[in-house]
Amino acid sequence: MAALGGGGRAAALLLLRRGPAAAALGPGPRRYRHKEKWATTAPRVPATRLALQNFDMNYSLQFKDAWPSIRVSLLSEQKYGALVNNFADVGRVTQELELLNAVDFISEALHKVQRLQRDPVAEQAGREDGASQEAPGEHQAVKQAEAPPPLSASVTSNIKCYTFPRGDVTRFRSARPDILGILNYYLMDAASVLPVLALNIQPNDFVLDLCAAPGGKTLAILQTGFCGHLAANDVSISRTRRLHQILNSYVPKQIREAVCVTSWDGRNWGELEGGTFHKVLVDVPCTTDRHSVMEEENNIFNKRRSKERQMLPMLQLQLLVAGILATKPGGEVVYSSCSLSQLQNEYVIERAVEIAETEFNIGTHVEDLSHFRTLFQDTFSFSSDCRLGELVLPHLTANFGPMYFCKLRRA
Ligand code: SAM
Repeated sequence: MAALGGGGRAAALLLLRRGPAAAALGPGPRRYRHKEKWATTAPRVPATRLALQNFDMNYSLQFKDAWPSIRVSLLSEQKYGALVNNFADVGRVTQELELLNAVDFISEALHKVQRLQRDPVAEQAGREDGASQEAPGEHQAVKQAEAPPPLSASVTSNIKCYTFPRGDVTRFRSARPDILGILNYYLMDAASVLPVLALNIQPNDFVLDLCAAPGGKTLAILQTGFCGHLAANDVSISRTRRLHQILNSYVPKQIREAVCVTSWDGRNWGELEGGTFHKVLVDVPCTTDRHSVMEEENNIFNKRRSKERQMLPMLQLQLLVAGILATKPGGEVVYSSCSLSQLQNEYVIERAVEIAETEFNIGTHVEDLSHFRTLFQDTFSFSSDCRLGELVLPHLTANFGPMYFCKLRRA
């Protein structure tokens, strides 16, 4: 029966139910006839399985021999990082986390920079260690900047995020409030901090977080203590409520009241407030690969959401173009997603650069972020052949990500 198509299977089911005698007697009176509805009787394929089938098909081509390792990691327990809340009692929180043997991977990277700076030969070797195995292809339409910035210019924020070392799968316990009722840390995929670090927020920068809810990255942006103005937007009103909850739980009143939270369609932002921001984060809706293979709830591979899924690259492109338009000349946009898909990552960057140029006469430059690999390779497993930007790959010893991030500078 498995080989039968939908209608054939329904007919066979009907036949079995009524028995061979009934079948021999013909259809019987119309009032007793019952037409099976295929859509309601067909076994429902779980969205998680559909996601895995889709990924097996596409990612085995994209990642070749590396796919089985990424696949098993996606299906295994994810690691978290504890983003320290600088508005709580920082000394106490960091002491607690260090007693657990967790390390702040950002300050570790800073120490690494200092060590490398004392020894230029080691710095070069460190860079080569983290650098791509393959040179970018000659055919590449959009090219990255020639040289990465000095390592020291990369990690100047006040953000602190603790993780357990590679291979250590200890879990952090839930955050607790301090005496003022402010929670001490926020648990998130530690790789989510990287796009915020890539923004390289400087004192008094005007920052836009275009797709901000539920707010992990907004909170990381606020930890820099540098924003002159922060606009946090998300089209979803219910998710914006969650953003408000996070701000209420982690950020003192006078600071959170200065954050401008809106629920606009980010695709229109450039028309509303163009050329305004020094830094723009475009953390797009995507196939959320880890969620899609693990959770049925709110799964984008649910059959009912096929159209929405197919339209994702278009939505991502529109959001990135809006982000570019919202940026001041000389300002920077960081695009990020938690998908492994080139179609949602590098291709979106290439098309956005092209559209900004041809339709808006805005030149953009893709920045080289390879120094992130040099700095953070002890904590994360980076893809070695991402053409534009950087991609954190899930790995059993460092099960963070996927997290893609790429930085554009507006001319
Ligand atoms: N940056 C968030 C964080 O770190 O917690 C996660 C953002 S999530 C990956 C993508 C968000 O994009 C969703 O909250 C979704 O509601 C929002 N979104 C989808 N379409 C949008 C649009 N047209 N304009 C603005 N936000 C949109």
